[in-house]
Amino acid sequence: MEPIYLTIALDTPLDRLFDYRWEPVADAPLPQVGQIVLVPFGRQEIAGVILAVTTQTDVPTDKIKSVLAVRHQCPALDSRWIDLCRFAADYYQRPLGEVAIPALPKNLRVPKATSLDRNLKKLAKLTAVQDVRAVQEPALNAQQQNAVDTISAKTAFAAYLLHGVTGSGKTEVYLQTAARVLAQNQQAQVLILVPEINLTPQLESNIRGRFPGLQIATLHSGMAEGERLLHWLAAHTGQARIILGTRLAILSSLRHLKLIVIDEEHDPSYKQQEGLRYSARDLAVWRAHQLGIPVVLGSATPSLETWQHAKAGRYQKLELTERAVQSAVLPVVKIINTEREKPSEGLTQRLVSAIRQRLEKGEQSLLFLNRRGYAPVIHCDACGWISNCTRCTAHLVMHKLDKKLRCHHCGLEQRIPRACPTCGNVDLQPLGRGTQRLEEGLQAIFPEARVFRIDADSTRLKGSAEAAFDTVHRGEVDILIGTQMVAKGHDFKNLTLVAALNPDSALFSQDFRASERLFAQLMQVAGRAGRAAQKEGGNASEVLIQTRYPDHPLYHALMEHNYQGFADDLLEERQQAAMPPFIYQALLRAEAKELETAILFLKEAANCTPHQGITINDPIPMTMTRVHNVDRAQLLIESSSRPALQAFLKVWIADLRALKTRVKWGVEIDPVDI
Ligand code: ADP
Ligand code: ZN
Ligand code: ZN
Repeated sequence: MEPIYLTIALDTPLDRLFDYRWEPVADAPLPQVGQIVLVPFGRQEIAGVILAVTTQTDVPTDKIKSVLAVRHQCPALDSRWIDLCRFAADYYQRPLGEVAIPALPKNLRVPKATSLDRNLKKLAKLTAVQDVRAVQEPALNAQQQNAVDTISAKTAFAAYLLHGVTGSGKTEVYLQTAARVLAQNQQAQVLILVPEINLTPQLESNIRGRFPGLQIATLHSGMAEGERLLHWLAAHTGQARIILGTRLAILSSLRHLKLIVIDEEHDPSYKQQEGLRYSARDLAVWRAHQLGIPVVLGSATPSLETWQHAKAGRYQKLELTERAVQSAVLPVVKIINTEREKPSEGLTQRLVSAIRQRLEKGEQSLLFLNRRGYAPVIHCDACGWISNCTRCTAHLVMHKLDKKLRCHHCGLEQRIPRACPTCGNVDLQPLGRGTQRLEEGLQAIFPEARVFRIDADSTRLKGSAEAAFDTVHRGEVDILIGTQMVAKGHDFKNLTLVAALNPDSALFSQDFRASERLFAQLMQVAGRAGRAAQKEGGNASEVLIQTRYPDHPLYHALMEHNYQGFADDLLEERQQAAMPPFIYQALLRAEAKELETAILFLKEAANCTPHQGITINDPIPMTMTRVHNVDRAQLLIESSSRPALQAFLKVWIADLRALKTRVKWGVEIDPVDI
């Protein structure tokens, strides 16, 4: 018998595949493409995926190593999944193995197969979850019905933008469309992506209630590895019909995928910000195209990329213009000029009385302040000392409860000093206001009220975010304080007042996407108010924005609930300034101990490859230059042609590799934080 060789993708920075020899064992079936194998690599044993089975190799016989094990018990990954990884690798300019292998659950990649065997056994025993009560689906309104009919009639590729105001019942459209798709085909799978699962526990229970007979898999980064493997296998084998996940779920194996839904498609969390810096939204559209199935992008404030696709007719727009609950209306948005009405404890008099009105009627208020901690910095009046991080270009944030100064970027922690480290002054003052300080102030003004804070500090423990949101839903909270964590899809029924305390800083950010994000965030958080019908004798729902720039167009668009006007204006600006989505970008980042070293490398990089139709900008330090004693700089590459940019990047990255620098560098395609 001729020797058999396997061409295998491995997770290494080397941009190539690896050949291994397969030693036939009596009765063992021939390995197949898509199967997972264990191989020796250096001194390690690592997992790989078989990409080809051949009888030839270029590797000399005395050099070639043998495969240690083939995971026959796990069904092979199909060619379309491999093609998806291949596309992502190609588009994001990474080795295939670096995309495909990390996309598999860790317990599938470890040398011992015990976890795999155990979970396969568990999987076989799993039938649909029993103890769920079926929930009746509500009758759709005409716009929802139209959306469901349109999407579920499609059996070929189509991208839909479901543009619906907050509370317009987008979720209901997802669920009923999913129900149709699942009914049409006994094997069909539906993938629903959400920004963060633990922030939207309601959705998961809604889905379970609506599909009591079906197996549902969840995939997100907060899961224990064993659990993750079980759910991944349920998706991979086709046993799970609905897969609810965060961005990483877009790379899961789903051989019967028939519909993809991306909720809150504008959300920045769809972009992975380390390693393979992919956009799950963009990959979802590609995957839908590959499979010839519909993909639904839902949002009240679509990303400008998506909005432009819809305007150009590449995505079909489906509009939901009204709130779904009968007689629930969008809140009235009002601007409070803090130059004229000076806040005390961060709160203007008008806001304080608005909160009081809610307390009197037993309604809830939500105060949005996107800054956790007690105060963003402390300082000394006598000598001007301020609490800077010694390792980053950032301040140390004051956390009063645990008496610490903490860097939110590198984690550096210190006790709050009793006296100024430079002059000995004992009267150090907090500057500015974070959620903890706001909480303290509110409790002083309203001693009787139940004030509750939700932010990354208050929800550090696993499961505590869910518990916190439950507390609010049960009505055990009068005033909720929160960071952007509370802005996402929550359906608070008794909330009639939302206030944004200090949103101005994003208005003048260097990042050109900052205003797009601020608008989306404020729309989202405003959308938490008035989701149920106004109670008899209750307050009408309102949103108060405290700002020093009451005439800013962003706030005016917000007052008019005018996403479209705002988006169209921004798009025009972007077009005139030749910015995304009208041009395409890539970013080369460099990190070094000294900024100069990083900049020097970028200068060399800028000149190492001939280019045409590509703009290479000057290297600049990143806005936050130093993090954890590392200096960071970046080089922005632009082109009006995506293929031209892609072609250039291929050559360029190979040239960069050849530079053999000690600087740590990486290229990001379609960067969102620049
Ligand atoms: P969105 O995701 O668009 O912000 P949701 O899907 O959370 O909105 O829906 C808002 C509220 O409207 C929810 O309480 C939901 O149960 C309700 N709802 C949705 N569709 C309908 C409908 N057709 N009839 C009655 N209530 C509905
Ligand atoms: Zn001092
Ligand atoms: Zn730091």
